[in-house]
Amino acid sequence: MAETTDVIIVGAGVVGCSIAFHLAQKGVKRVVVLDRGEIGGEASGAAAGMLAPQCEAAGPGPFLDFCLAARQYYERLAPMLKDFAHVDIEYLSWGILYLLDEEGDEAAEGRYRWQKELGLAVERLTPEEVGKLEPGLTKEIAGALFFPGDHHVNNTELTRALAQAARALGVDIVEGSPVTGFLYEGDRVAGVRTPQEIYTAGQVVLCTGAWSGQIGALLGRRIPVEPARGQILYAELAEPPLRHPVWGRGGYLVPRLNGGLVVGSNVEYVGFEKTVTLGGINLFSSLALALLPGLAGQPFTRAWAGFRPHSKDGLPIIGPLQDLAGLYIATGHFRNGILLGPLTGRLVAEMMLGESPSSSLDAFSPGRFGL
Ligand SMILES: Cc1cc2nc3c(=O)[nH]c(=O)nc-3n(C[C@H](O)[C@H](O)[C@H](O)COP(=O)(O)OP(=O)(O)OC[C@H]3O[C@@H](n4cnc5c(N)ncnc54)[C@H](O)[C@@H]3O)c2cc1C
Repeated sequence: MAETTDVIIVGAGVVGCSIAFHLAQKGVKRVVVLDRGEIGGEASGAAAGMLAPQCEAAGPGPFLDFCLAARQYYERLAPMLKDFAHVDIEYLSWGILYLLDEEGDEAAEGRYRWQKELGLAVERLTPEEVGKLEPGLTKEIAGALFFPGDHHVNNTELTRALAQAARALGVDIVEGSPVTGFLYEGDRVAGVRTPQEIYTAGQVVLCTGAWSGQIGALLGRRIPVEPARGQILYAELAEPPLRHPVWGRGGYLVPRLNGGLVVGSNVEYVGFEKTVTLGGINLFSSLALALLPGLAGQPFTRAWAGFRPHSKDGLPIIGPLQDLAGLYIATGHFRNGILLGPLTGRLVAEMMLGESPSSSLDAFSPGRFGL
């Protein structure tokens, strides 16, 4: 017997859980989320949790606009998730520090200039001012840019909260349930198959992150997304050694409220090889000690790797597929899926219900890849 529902979402990362939550919040009664593994078990659980459009974006344009809108959406989302899921996502709006190179940093200067011209908040800090904000940081710095509007969040709690909020509104999330095929009715998608079950629905959304190319192959489509591995080192300390996330010297340090310190990350194109390498451990422990010399005697807790979904042009792919009615895709969020996932969920829900999206997704249409 097939299970019948209104919407099937494939993938329970931040993107899939957010779409489910927003659809349920808008009154869609029957939503099923299927994940091969666990809720937040892949990139969404592996991330560092920065909400950092000003640290990340290369310049003005639709991607920056989307990132800024997504950052702002957190102000509404965090209290909403407390209400619906009773989870504190540790949304901390304290700003992010971006350390400058000793020998002059043209890229940072350029970033400072274009952001000032756009009217975005960015400050140049002297080494003494940085030291006042973060006394534990090395004194061997040339200063920093401070982005007071960039924030951070606990990404594991965020994904858990979105899933819990969706469940509280009646969404069924089934873990350990890989989608292995699709059902069709003429030129419409009509459902999916898993090894255990057949699910039928009028609308299916693919939120399979780095595995989007593989699920595309099941549909006979080339979805141009590849995995971009990132490694993270984690130390659990008695107290957070920093208040702000700090970028510098090729990586970043992100404090958690419980004393955890996330140190990352690199971008490696090595397929789905989920290993933490000796080179990765060396790179990130050296970075942590260079920036926070006082950490040398602290215990190492663990390390992990995750796969960012990297599309061919580095931008998200969000929207309906052209010649298969009822099928949507939301993937390719690459380094910014924690930032963009919540707003993506809201916009996709609006789109699926025939509402005009509250921010433009035109630049991210699957149509640009002929999908
Ligand atoms: C090391 C690292 C650091 C990062 N730091 C940040 C950061 O600081 N800020 C930020 O904004 N972003 C960051 N990111 C990026 C962010 O984590 C991702 O962009 C985001 O999590 C992608 O979310 P997703 O839901 O698309 O994918 P995922 O979280 O990977 O979820 C996809 C889900 O689909 C499931 N799936 C796949 N195939 C199938 C199938 N056939 N059937 C059923 N289920 C399937 C998988 O099991 C998985 O759970 C980081 C990523 C990494 C790896």
